[in-house]
This record gives sequence, C-alpha cells and structure tokens, in this order.
Amino acid sequence: MEGKGRPAILKEECTGCGACVEACPIGAIRMHGGLAQIDESCNLCGGCRDVCPSGAIRFPEEDREKQPAAAEHHHVWVFAEVRQGKLASVVPELLGAGRRLADQLGESLHAVVVTAPREEIYQQLFGYGADAVWQVEHELVFEGDEMARAAALCQLIRRERPAVVLFGATAMGRSLAPRIATRLKTGLTADCTGLEIDPETRLLRQIRPAFGGNIMAEILTKYRRPQMATVRPRVMKAPRFRPDSSGPIHHFVPAELDGGLTLEELVLEEVETVNLEDADIIVSGGRGLGDPRNFALLEELARLLGAAVGASRAAVDSGWIPYSHQVGQTGKTVAPKVYIAVGISGAIQHLVGMQSSDVIVAINKNPDAPIFKVATYGIVGDLFEVVPALIRQLKKMRGVT
Ligand code: FAD
Repeated sequence: MEGKGRPAILKEECTGCGACVEACPIGAIRMHGGLAQIDESCNLCGGCRDVCPSGAIRFPEEDREKQPAAAEHHHVWVFAEVRQGKLASVVPELLGAGRRLADQLGESLHAVVVTAPREEIYQQLFGYGADAVWQVEHELVFEGDEMARAAALCQLIRRERPAVVLFGATAMGRSLAPRIATRLKTGLTADCTGLEIDPETRLLRQIRPAFGGNIMAEILTKYRRPQMATVRPRVMKAPRFRPDSSGPIHHFVPAELDGGLTLEELVLEEVETVNLEDADIIVSGGRGLGDPRNFALLEELARLLGAAVGASRAAVDSGWIPYSHQVGQTGKTVAPKVYIAVGISGAIQHLVGMQSSDVIVAINKNPDAPIFKVATYGIVGDLFEVVPALIRQLKKMRGVT
C-alpha cells in the first residue's frame, strides 16, 4: 500500500470507457454519470493509470513529494524478536537475508532489540551478521506493551531513517509491523519468500506468492520509506554463526510513551507440542488418509522416527487434525531435513510450505500426483500398505515389538 490520498479523475479527459474499472484489482472504481469514480479503498497501485487510454487519472504527486527522499534513508534493519529470553529462530534467518540486501546496497545491517538488554543476545546478533545493534530502553517497551513498542520504534525509525526494515512473520512481528507501517504511512509486504535489491533503482523487490499461490508477485514500495516486509520462519537460510564478531550498541530512550495496553496477567497457554517449524523430520498426512483415525498410523511412524506430524489443509479442514499442524501457504512453512508426504497430492499451496525441505519422500497411489515433481524419493503405492511396512521395518531395526 502506498499510503493515503486518492487519484483524481480529470473530467474533461475521462471518456467513461471503463478500462480502469476492469483493471482495479480491489474494485475501488465505479462508473457514475459516465465518469470513473475512485473510492477511499484505493491503495494507489497505479493499475488504473496504466490502462487509462486518455490519461485522465492523476495521482497525488504533491503528497508523494512531501515524503522524505529515498536518498535520505540508509541501512537495512532487522527486528530482533526475543521470546522468553531467547532470540527467535527467525532472527538469524532475517539477518542472513538482511546481510545480502545491505551488501547489495553498500550499506550496513542493524538489529533492533526492544526487550531488556542482554549481552548474550547482542553476541548472537553480531555473530549472525549485524554490524550494529539498537537497544530501545523503556519500561513499557520491556513489559511487552505492543502499542508502546510500536510508538518507540516509530520514533527511532523517523529519527534514523532506515531504508528497509524486516520483521519475522511471527505472532509478534505480524502484530508490530502493521502498526508501525500504518503510523509511518508506508508499505508493508507480508510473508515474503524472496527479497532482492533492484540493481537499477535500488528498490527492495518484495517477492511473495499471490492469487492462491498461482503467481509470484513482485511488490515495490516506490515512494514511501522505510520499505517494510515480513518473512516467515524457515523461509530464508540462517548464515553461519561467527562467535567472535562484535560491533557498536546504540541505546535509544524514546520520548514519552503512552502505553496503550495494561498487562494484568500473563498466562502461558498449554499447547500440543507440535513445534513443526523446528522439527528435523516431519511426517505429514493428507486427504488420502481417508479418516481421522488413520492419523494414528502416521503418529506411530513419527514416534519411531522422532518426527513431528504435519498435515495438508484438506486434512485440517476435514477436522481430522488441528490447524497448528497445517503446512502450506495458510499454515506453517517448514524446511526439515526429511519431509514425508503421505496421501498428499502436492497442490501449489502445500508445496510453498515445504519444498525447501532437504529430502522429500512422497507416498501416493497416483503416479501423476504433482508431489512427485518435488519429491527426492517417490513411492507409488497404497499408503495403507506402505506405511505399515515402514513401521514394521523400523520396529525390526530398533528391536521394538
Ligand atoms: P487431495 O488433493 O485430495 O490429495 C489427496 C491425495 O491422496 C491424492 O493425490 C491421492 O492420489 C492420494 N491418495 C488417496 N488415497 C490414497 C492411498 N490409499 N494411498 C496413497 N495415496 C492416496 N493446502 C495445504 O496443504 N496447505 C495450505 O496452507 C493451503 N492453503 C491454501 C490457501 C488457499 C488460498 C487455497 C485456495 C488453497 C489452499 N490449500 C492449502 C489447499 C490446496 O489447494 C489443496 O486443496 C490441498 O493441499 C489438498 O490437500 P491433499 O493433498 O491432502 O488432498
């Protein structure tokens, strides 16, 4: 989204051809009295301007000119999420991606911490590639007040003017990044699977699946700064840790912050111990299992392999297994050492969540199932014969009866 303001329709020029109505991806344009009318939901994507044959659509250039020039924004920042004292696993992955972007821009990579200062966290951030660390210092921010965190980060971003800010697409990142982007009136692209710098324009190319995963969209934040994106855990590779790295730590004390939230009690919810994102081996089941009771078969295989159990959306939507197990575009992104897909066809929305696994084993009775296109090893057969045979063999190898 490119911020507020609406394009103007030049009445003398508009021929009422309706090309802009067709082109608008969000249905923000209607014809009224033979003229195009653009409503407030317009996100300034520019699609209408590109198709208008008479040049009747003018964008709010003046508003755009009020934006700070891109040349005044420098460096790539990564939000260093810390949960229960530990650096979130997505942070090294973001630092790896951020390092590449910073190198392409010829600039520095900075990490921002909003939890209480800890030497161990700084060491990890430098070890994974940060050139500098920003430590935000405020009691409300340390307590986890999201509104205060967003306000403090906006103050810091306005002052320091980073060119790019990356967040993990975790519960915290997904909550914080939109609050900041809205306050700063800048764009935010969620769930990027690729991030690159355009060598000519130096803009951040934010790449992500769109329209149900059928196309890869490339999104640019041309006029606003910073360019903001979230990336899911396990999508990018973490760089090698260099234990002896170090750098400067800048302390930032925000001006007065209004805490928007009062934390009365912190109750940690007890959830099933799925932890798909950290599992080395995942055994996933799909509609081919035919019945929720058949997940017991996968759980037995998973126990013998020390694996976590995943699922396709079809299995989740059928109510066979909770959503926390879903792998794919609208579930989790995983990249285990071994991913075993059982009775899963391999729809694109499932593949985007698991195709960077090191080894993929597919078990499917249909030799033409798309899952075989990404599989390292494919077993064409009935899962009710193949999986019990695997279980028997594993038990034999481990001496289990
Ligand atoms: P099916 O496509 O029905 O495949 C079942 C497979 O089991 C078939 O290949 C069949 O040959 C095989 N089979 C049947 N019986 C046996 C047997 N006895 N032995 C061996 N093989 C057998 N899907 C996801 O998984 N994750 C997502 O996050 C996700 N997000 C989506 C988001 C959007 C916007 C949309 C539109 C869709 C999304 N989907 C997602 C759904 C996706 O398009 C597919 O519908 C879904 O992945 C299919 O699940 P499946 O492979 O289990 O089922």
